[in-house]
Amino acid sequence: MDAQIERVRELLGTAASIAVLTGAGVSAESGIATFRDPDGLWAKFSPRELASMDGFLANPERVRDWYAHRKSIATSVAPNAGHYALAALERAATGSCTLITQNVDRLHQRAGSVNVLEVHGNLIENRCNECGHIREDDLLTCPDCSGAMRPNVVWFGEELPQDVFAAAEQAAMTCDVMIVAGTSAEVYPAAGLPYTAKRYGAVVIEVNPNRTELTNEAHHVLHGTSATILPLIVGEA
Ligand SMILES: [Zn+2]
Repeated sequence: MDAQIERVRELLGTAASIAVLTGAGVSAESGIATFRDPDGLWAKFSPRELASMDGFLANPERVRDWYAHRKSIATSVAPNAGHYALAALERAATGSCTLITQNVDRLHQRAGSVNVLEVHGNLIENRCNECGHIREDDLLTCPDCSGAMRPNVVWFGEELPQDVFAAAEQAAMTCDVMIVAGTSAEVYPAAGLPYTAKRYGAVVIEVNPNRTELTNEAHHVLHGTSATILPLIVGEA
């Protein structure tokens, strides 16, 4: 076996606390479009129109339709080997294991991950724009306050959910090992988490087919897709 894979397996096997940060690359192999690649969503759609409060206020129906479409894709595809490997990692962990995801598709949970922090929200739920009430049906107005229901995702110009991101930062500060998989590490503040982990003494492992902003900072760089590499490092393959 590749010596670096073996070393990473040892690290994961002995870590008291593991954090994982995932991004669009992990779901790409399930058929979920990425955002920033040349053929990604933001090459075809306008983030200003579809993923901002201004866009929602200008045309709520267009925004809701687009998210309903993405939700139907997310619920019709299956988790891949990368998702399943991370669920297995959590089950096998003797200490804590926190999965921080920028993905909104819920594929990690469907693969069996339990301790998941969705720092960018999710496509499954809608949230009242006024009072924060959350539900999974398609009601357009909040039953509590009559506010407009909107996708429970973080839009451009919006803050991340405070309690969720605080928990993610805590995991980054306290982990021994952080795996960063399938993310180009460009979208802040989530992209800052691996640097936080490193500053607080964690070993940072990058899993990505491409070089990223993080590549020079990571202690171990495993080039390949997460569906290929993650099963190897958690011993599932
Ligand atoms: Zn409300």
